[in-house]
Amino acid sequence: MIANIITIGDELLNGQTIDTNSSFIAEKLGEIGIKIKYRRAIADDVQDIVAALEESMSHTQLTIITGGLGPTKDDITKHTLRQFFKADTKIDEPTLEHVRSIFENRGLPFTEVNQLQAQVPSNCDVLFNKMGTAPGMWFDERNHIFVSLPGVPFEMKYLMVHEVIPKIHDRFQLKPIIHRHIQTASVGESFLARTIEDIENHLPENIKLAYLPSFYRVNLRLSAIDDRPEVKDQLSYFKQLIRERLHDVVYGHGTKSIYEYVHQFLIDGNQQISFAESCTGGNIAHQFTLIEGASNILKGAWVVYSNEFKEQQLGVSKELLETHTEYSHECVEAMAKGALMHSGANYVIATSGIMTPNLEAQSGKPMSTVYIAFGSRERIVTKQLSLIYNRSNNIEAASIAAVFHLYMDFMIHK
Ligand code: AMP
Ligand code: MG
Repeated sequence: MIANIITIGDELLNGQTIDTNSSFIAEKLGEIGIKIKYRRAIADDVQDIVAALEESMSHTQLTIITGGLGPTKDDITKHTLRQFFKADTKIDEPTLEHVRSIFENRGLPFTEVNQLQAQVPSNCDVLFNKMGTAPGMWFDERNHIFVSLPGVPFEMKYLMVHEVIPKIHDRFQLKPIIHRHIQTASVGESFLARTIEDIENHLPENIKLAYLPSFYRVNLRLSAIDDRPEVKDQLSYFKQLIRERLHDVVYGHGTKSIYEYVHQFLIDGNQQISFAESCTGGNIAHQFTLIEGASNILKGAWVVYSNEFKEQQLGVSKELLETHTEYSHECVEAMAKGALMHSGANYVIATSGIMTPNLEAQSGKPMSTVYIAFGSRERIVTKQLSLIYNRSNNIEAASIAAVFHLYMDFMIHK
């Protein structure tokens, strides 16, 4: 089955807002085996909206649109849909009550403009929006499903997951799609492809392998549009072959982040970690803080950006910094030892490096050199990384690299 996604809003066209809605919707539809023909962003303009709807229904069965459902004059999607279907309006009572109670709870007057949120075209099924005031709408017209969702991302996501996907399942007989994941880090796509070339060449027709790269890591995804037990067995068999072949760069086989794996490892061992971050500026601590239960494993962290701070806070010696500089194995090792001593944690990560790429003497390509130290009271390992991204992506890559290498070291020595 094929669908289109149309996002509506002037702010998407002038670059003020990045259209993240369509990528989320595409991902959710992809998970249930629906292919996207195109994603388009268009203006808050009646004629443009009508033309886009006409065009989309001419060659697909499903169109999902977002945006333009607010109560203000610039939001015209709902009005345009009513015209498009030549429908009347109706009041959706559950939405009216919901919006009224939101305003009452906030102690705000419930005005006529707010009441308009509950007014919808008479031919739609209302998708109740627990997260906000603008309801979603589902139209089953002219052999086509049109779904209209609010533009606010967390409202759209809620409706997509809790209302739209179940309704699509009810309406269409979809072929089930199943995935298996292999999560790798520290090597690139081409290396992976070379290493598993013979396995990939032997994949049966019905199994597809996708390489999904991001900073410092590549996820491999095996998929089949078929959930019969023998196909599941086939998927598991190939997943196992690939995992064994790539074992020293594989950290997971699901969709959890590397931070979540390390979090779980520390929880299971009743251990705590601390960080001494220079070039990653606290990002590693921040990433762990995002995980529920961080207080069980995160003892604390230092952002020691200047050499003065590295000395004062962590006891890195002046002599060491003069001899080796802050960009060295010696420096990150000393930072890690200082953090272990001062925090009392059992595990540690330290980072120091130059985040803005420099022209590298040997390759002539812009590279950033980063040093990481990781380990425990028993042993600390250091590593040098050459990163190839811009400053902000290098911070992400260095953070992931440090946590990944700590995790692999855990796994080898546990
Ligand atoms: P609207 O429903 O058009 O009033 O949109 C409400 C808010 O949602 C806008 O101000 C944007 O900040 C955000 N928004 C709308 N469309 C998108 C989109 N496609 N991707 C991300 N954010 C969006
Ligand atoms: Mg808008």
